[in-house]
Amino acid sequence: MPELRRIPLALLPTPIHRLDQLSMELGLDLWIKRDDLTGFALGGNKGRKLEYLLPAALERGADTIVTCGAIQSNFIRQLGAACRRVGLRCVAAVMNLPYEDALPEAPMLESHGGNVLLDELLGVELHRMPNGTWDELYDAAEALAKSEEKKGRRVYRIPVGGSSGLGAAAFVFAGQEVIQQSPSFDWIVTASSSGSTQTGLTIAMQSTQTKVLGICSDPEPELVDHFAELSQDVATETGWDCALPASAFHLNTSYVGPGYGVPSPEGNAALRRVAQSEGVFLDPIYSAKAFAGLIDLAQKGEISGRVLFWHTGGIPTLFSAPGLLG
Ligand SMILES: *Cc1c(COP(=O)(O)O)cnc(C)c1O
Repeated sequence: MPELRRIPLALLPTPIHRLDQLSMELGLDLWIKRDDLTGFALGGNKGRKLEYLLPAALERGADTIVTCGAIQSNFIRQLGAACRRVGLRCVAAVMNLPYEDALPEAPMLESHGGNVLLDELLGVELHRMPNGTWDELYDAAEALAKSEEKKGRRVYRIPVGGSSGLGAAAFVFAGQEVIQQSPSFDWIVTASSSGSTQTGLTIAMQSTQTKVLGICSDPEPELVDHFAELSQDVATETGWDCALPASAFHLNTSYVGPGYGVPSPEGNAALRRVAQSEGVFLDPIYSAKAFAGLIDLAQKGEISGRVLFWHTGGIPTLFSAPGLLG
């Protein structure tokens, strides 16, 4: 296996532990992987990806990172912190909420507080765009990158959520980390959005009995085609023989609720249930919706046995979600 250059940011391995109360209630042997506890910039799955993305930026002589996302992006917060560690500027095009077809009509996250407060503390240069589609957001990021280059900056572009071949490779290592900690899960259940978490874990579990189930935070079943491309990008970056077809990915899009980036009633109920039975906090946009899916699928008998829930973080958005108690 070739060595990939890594800048350590997360405190690894993150812990795993059993959820005794919920195991009993759901009839599962249920465990949780605490990537909310990476110890880096308030935790979350993006820290692992950045360990491999930043060395690539430095190798190319970059002085500025340009990315994009929703205003409450957990990725931009962790990227902003990682940039500070290595002396890079972090510039991001953001929308309150990028959308696919139409903006959902439901209580949204606030566009201040939460991750936005942390971005401001870190000195991330946020460029707020009017709401629009994801493609408009990607175009805005490209325009920003070009204008930085015109000013003489050496720009490294990082796609939304850090989902490139290197970002996904980080989650191949994360999967191997779990195999070391405790090898015999029947299922790993994770929130899934830009895809490198699910893609990396699926690659890592190919040679095991463990099935990886992504509960989607975006209402887009065609995302599995993107995951297949991402697995090809991992192969290209690393030289591993790991490209997978779209059919290798188990993705469930039934638990998105009102839309991407908007809390759902089922997710909020799961968030409250996990807090009150285990004292563990989920986030309203990703992990709570994934846990709502886990509960429902366990009740339908579609997942069973020894199950690992991958906590992907996102805690700061708890403090920008006024609808949570409503
Ligand atoms: C980004 C994010 C995800 C989704 O991970 P992807 O690798 O983009 O699919 C899930 N949960 C949280 C809390 C996140 O911030």
